[in-house]
Amino acid sequence: MRPIYLDHHATTPVDPQVLAAMLPYFSAAFGNPGSAHAYGWEAEAAVEQAREIIAAAIAATPEEIIFTSGATEANNLALIGAAEANLSRGRHLVTIATEHSAVLAPCRYLESLGFELTVLPVQPDGLLDLMQLEQALRPDTILVSAMAANNEIGVLQPLAEIGARCRDRGILLHTDAAQALGKIPLDVEAMSIDLMSLTAHKLYGPKGIGALYVRRRQPRVQLAPQLRGGGQERGLRSGTLYPPQIVGFGKAVEISQAQMATEAARARGLRDRLWANLQVLPDIYRNGHPEQRLPSNLNVSIGGVDGSALLLGLRSVVALSSGSACASAGTAPSHVLTALGRSPTLAYASLRFGLGRNTTADQLESVAAAVITTVRSLRQARPAATPATTF
Ligand SMILES: *Cc1c(COP(=O)(O)O)cnc(C)c1O
Repeated sequence: MRPIYLDHHATTPVDPQVLAAMLPYFSAAFGNPGSAHAYGWEAEAAVEQAREIIAAAIAATPEEIIFTSGATEANNLALIGAAEANLSRGRHLVTIATEHSAVLAPCRYLESLGFELTVLPVQPDGLLDLMQLEQALRPDTILVSAMAANNEIGVLQPLAEIGARCRDRGILLHTDAAQALGKIPLDVEAMSIDLMSLTAHKLYGPKGIGALYVRRRQPRVQLAPQLRGGGQERGLRSGTLYPPQIVGFGKAVEISQAQMATEAARARGLRDRLWANLQVLPDIYRNGHPEQRLPSNLNVSIGGVDGSALLLGLRSVVALSSGSACASAGTAPSHVLTALGRSPTLAYASLRFGLGRNTTADQLESVAAAVITTVRSLRQARPAATPATTF
């Protein structure tokens, strides 16, 4: 039997309804949406329907949605594209220490090209300090990139407050909403967001499809394309559109929007129960703000155990990771947890629980029992292990 899957921040299974919606577009309705004949129009109509659903979910218009291969590509297009297109306005960019590597790496790349980068620290609960943000903004700041929901600790940044401060100063706000879409309400108007990265596979859609929201009015965002070619997607992202994946993305968004409120309440209940159960262990700490976080996320650090031994001990019971899927092969402790002020030892000895739609109370009881047993036996095997670590 495979272990219980609690790694829904890494990816999710494709919903059967999503798969059913996608299937006709592989072979029966196989046309290129760019073709001016019946085959093309059929595919184009399906793509445009998905575009409308995705736009409506974030209070945007369909023309503001640019399909990409996922959130990584959307982040790269947003950051590098906006930096290149707004050189006349300045060379300064601002982001946050807990961002996904798909934001931090393009920012570092821009820095290597001569842009100036400010990486803001976070408070111990993972939230950005708005005063620090205000102090970082300069007349030559082009853009701020602040994620909606963190992929390790689930913390939700105060986007509306960040957006208001950027809008006042004519600075663009980009947000990586890969983990937030379909889980919490997103509104590009209410939050003054100019660019938003989205992906389908974190919300029961297929992998390899995402989108960038690009604001068209007040202000009209200028972007330099990063892929040049046939001029699809208003010239911002050339390449033949991928109708099965786009249709699946649309269906996944439709389902998630319809279920959002009930699923959030259900996940929150299960997640809080899991945390209550785990607290029978001494020297266990929750990472990130207790309320300002995704309802489906719990991230804990556990003192007195070796992080890799802990994951190894749990491997047959539960599939989870200690941090980002993209970083789990690395040897460095999570940059997110160290940004909260966790010691490297506690950052290593951390578990990220990502609950999903199919997660049950019974599964979480088994997982909590396995964590408790494993931690107790590891602590017994290492009586000399460092005692309760501060913070
Ligand atoms: C998963 C994830 C990404 C990468 O998305 P892909 O579609 O897999 O490229 C980027 N940012 C965050 C916050 C994520 O969780």
